[in-house]
Amino acid sequence: MTRISIRRPDDWHLHLRDGDMLKGVIGDSSRHFARAIIMPNLVPPVVTTQDAQAYRQRIMAALPAGDRFEPLMTLYLTEHTDADDVEAGKASGLIHAVKLYPAGATTNSHGGVRDMDKAMPVLERMAKIGLPLCVHGEVTTPEVDIFDREAVFIETVLDPLRKRLPELKITMEHVTTSNGIDYIKSAENNLAGTITTHHLIINRNAILVGGIRPHYYCLPVAKRESHRLALRAAATSGDSRFFLGTDSAPHVDPLKECGCGCAGIYTSINTMSCLAHVFEEDGALDRLEAFSSLNGPAWYGLAPNEDRITLEKQAEPVSFPAKIETGAGPVTVFDPMFPVHWSVV
Ligand SMILES: [Zn+2]
Repeated sequence: MTRISIRRPDDWHLHLRDGDMLKGVIGDSSRHFARAIIMPNLVPPVVTTQDAQAYRQRIMAALPAGDRFEPLMTLYLTEHTDADDVEAGKASGLIHAVKLYPAGATTNSHGGVRDMDKAMPVLERMAKIGLPLCVHGEVTTPEVDIFDREAVFIETVLDPLRKRLPELKITMEHVTTSNGIDYIKSAENNLAGTITTHHLIINRNAILVGGIRPHYYCLPVAKRESHRLALRAAATSGDSRFFLGTDSAPHVDPLKECGCGCAGIYTSINTMSCLAHVFEEDGALDRLEAFSSLNGPAWYGLAPNEDRITLEKQAEPVSFPAKIETGAGPVTVFDPMFPVHWSVV
């Protein structure tokens, strides 16, 4: 197969940032994707529907002329989130999920939840109105090894929460371990997972072998090869509980190439080409559409996109810029470390 047509994909986990960075990156998402779940970890975070409304307007204003793109807004869960505001946000069609960041888990997450008990009234309301909770599934306790944080989160936070509130729909975002995959598969309902492009491609060697490579550093950090293979098997299986969330997360190069570099990998621009490569390699091109265009909308209660995109395999490798220039500074583009022959035509 050298040509494949699929429904237009959506991105179920995306960081667009704000200001000059937003203006510099949004076109890379709107070129291929119709919709995206927009992460709320700005400074300050998006915590009320009013914040989300204002952020949505800034996104729409930054959109390249003529592009159609629907930002699906989320709220940043805090210990003070107002359940009535969340319900009103969902009812108005603005809010599609609420995001749980354990305090300190990743970029701009220090305002996150420390005590789950304090978040229970909001979570109970979300269960009642059918609004999904997106979780950054890592504990932040310093005693826990960074490579174990997802597994420990499942055991100590996620599983107890699901037992306490089985009616709550939970999206476990950017799953990086076989533990996460197995846990999602073991759930009878109300649990799904997003998988990033880069976690299907790199393992932790990409970050650490032959010198430290900050552009492969993200959170959750890439794990060992056996975990990557489990992610690949889940993504390419067609199982409706797994779908694409790129977690494309731009930082300007000076903030990554320094003594304490930021976490995040920028993949909006070449995700569909990389995914076609991955799915072809695994003999699963016919399941790419389920992963990128069908399973996500079904989980979020939305119709799949009506229009389509076509991917074509080129004889010569397709080239992507090594960096994009934004008004905020240069952002390095994810290099999958193999030649990519697929392009969106
Ligand atoms: Zn993220």
